[in-house]
Amino acid sequence: MSYTPPLPPFAGICTFARLPYQPAPIAADVAILGVPYDSSTSYRSGTRLGPRTLREQSLLLWGYNNVLKVAPFTTLNAVDAGDVAVVPVDILATHRAIEAAAESWLNVGAKLITLGGDHSITLPLLRRHAAKYGPLAVLHFDAHPDTWDCEYPGQRYSHGTPFVRAIEEGLIDREAYVQLGIRGPTSGPQDYVDALNLGARMITMEEFRQHTVADVIAEIRQRIGSRPLYMTFDIDCIDPAFAPGTGTPEVGGFTSFEALQLVRGMDGMNCIGFDLVEVSPPFDPTAITSILGANLVFEFLSLLCLQTKSAGATRPA
Ligand code: MN
Ligand code: MN
Repeated sequence: MSYTPPLPPFAGICTFARLPYQPAPIAADVAILGVPYDSSTSYRSGTRLGPRTLREQSLLLWGYNNVLKVAPFTTLNAVDAGDVAVVPVDILATHRAIEAAAESWLNVGAKLITLGGDHSITLPLLRRHAAKYGPLAVLHFDAHPDTWDCEYPGQRYSHGTPFVRAIEEGLIDREAYVQLGIRGPTSGPQDYVDALNLGARMITMEEFRQHTVADVIAEIRQRIGSRPLYMTFDIDCIDPAFAPGTGTPEVGGFTSFEALQLVRGMDGMNCIGFDLVEVSPPFDPTAITSILGANLVFEFLSLLCLQTKSAGATRPA
């Protein structure tokens, strides 16, 4: 039988890492779901193009993780679930569509990796994950707390409010809610006070820089323990020098390498879901932001791979 070489990265139809396109739920280990919604951004939009571009930039993920020593695409039964049918002019209808898609995949036992979209999409995802797992430990990477009560008068849902709504709805275990990468000017001191009053353990960039990455990882692991861990990754936690393609950039953030270290640092934890939000391709002319985003998804897939290989295993010393 003749050997058919795999397609080179620049050829073929594009799904995430060329995983099978599977819009209808099937029993899979992981479903990668796009949510091309950006109508609730507060500055410049463009993240509706995030899922499409992240798929395109995922094609250089050759498959083997040399740090975590796993090959997620051959170990996991992972699929690209396509995009949620968002409604650009209706955030509540969009949230309903996200919940329906998430529920359908969680019901067949898949773990979800969701590609945004702006950060408002995390609330419906937290709802469906909490419905399955109970109140969640949440590791929230972001330059911003996203805990405003209302970003616009009378509007409870936008990309600046998902975590206050999630706390109100009891979706987050307040003992295990960690914000990581917070920085930049705010409208006043109350922005941080509000987040702290909600129970967040806020690790600002100022604090992060005073410690080693290993120390920060150790504290997060200790705080979260064996709780079901949902990671939500707003790409604006990264320094705009590394990730300019986002709607509300803040200078002075993580390097790409620190982000990889922090995500890998959750190896062996009870990871149950992940989203990557706020990648805005129109502000990303070299695709550097989307390349990092695709690699962060690969790291999370690698964490799920480790989990599947050794469920309940504790981290080696
Ligand atoms: Mn955010
Ligand atoms: Mn942000």
